Amino acid sequence: MKYYGLRNQGATCYLNSILQALFMTREFREAVKSCSKHHKDDINVQLNTLFESLKKKTSETTEVTKTLRIEKVYEQQDAGQYLEKILSDVSDEASEIFKGELIHRTVCDQCGSHTDDEVPFFFLSLPLMDSKNGNYSVEDGIQEFLKDVEFCGEDQMYCDECKYKCDTTVKYKLKLHPEILILLLKRFEYNYHRMSYSKDSRAVDVCYTIDLPENQTYELYALVEHFGSLTGGHYTAIIKSEDEDRWYEFNDSSVTLLSDHRIQRKFENFTVYHKLTSHSFYTRSRSAHLLFYRKKSK
Ligand SMILES: [Zn+2]
Repeated sequence: MKYYGLRNQGATCYLNSILQALFMTREFREAVKSCSKHHKDDINVQLNTLFESLKKKTSETTEVTKTLRIEKVYEQQDAGQYLEKILSDVSDEASEIFKGELIHRTVCDQCGSHTDDEVPFFFLSLPLMDSKNGNYSVEDGIQEFLKDVEFCGEDQMYCDECKYKCDTTVKYKLKLHPEILILLLKRFEYNYHRMSYSKDSRAVDVCYTIDLPENQTYELYALVEHFGSLTGGHYTAIIKSEDEDRWYEFNDSSVTLLSDHRIQRKFENFTVYHKLTSHSFYTRSRSAHLLFYRKKSK
């Protein structure tokens, strides 16, 4: 299959990158197609029209930006924010593919009683930190995300059983593993000292295969990268084609098949490690921002 690009309307590379990742997610493309039959002029229809066009030619996103009420096409926006908007707007059938569920368990350290809150998510926002033992990886980020949080001292929480404020632990557990797991590396953070957003360009090891608790394995098939500064930067996407197991780079209207040599450059140590174990296939990246992983059947 030949792939086509999306024309940039000014600074809409953030949108183009996530649209290509969604287009290359077969389950999503099919869900949007079946839903667009029942609805008339909503986001499902616009996406389906765009996806049908993308199968044949370089395409325009003007109808999609209109539906998403993006007026300032010359202003760069946050890709994660618009991905969330699209997934919230499409039919449940289409968004379900990405929907996972976390349990937030609040445990009183005093009496041991607990309450559970179910929290649905479309993606997990992973904090970027310095790793104690060398390189920080996506798996470190997941561990950090799911780490117990203690509320002591001034942060104590009221316990319904004890009837007073106690030291409390909040535990996180994945209840529902989504078909497609999206991870967002938090590169854009508000800096309270500078009173503005800044970009964190530290290197992160993006593993090709990750294991989540409950013994669930996921495989990387798309990553959206952000290059350059916070406001004037550029987004592109690298996506693996499901039919042919080859990686393509989507950069607005241009789509390039990545040669082995370029994949090697993109994914550091690809050949060496890939031969040993697919687990160790990773890319050390300062630009990776959104990662799409597909659940592996057990
Ligand atoms: Zn208690």
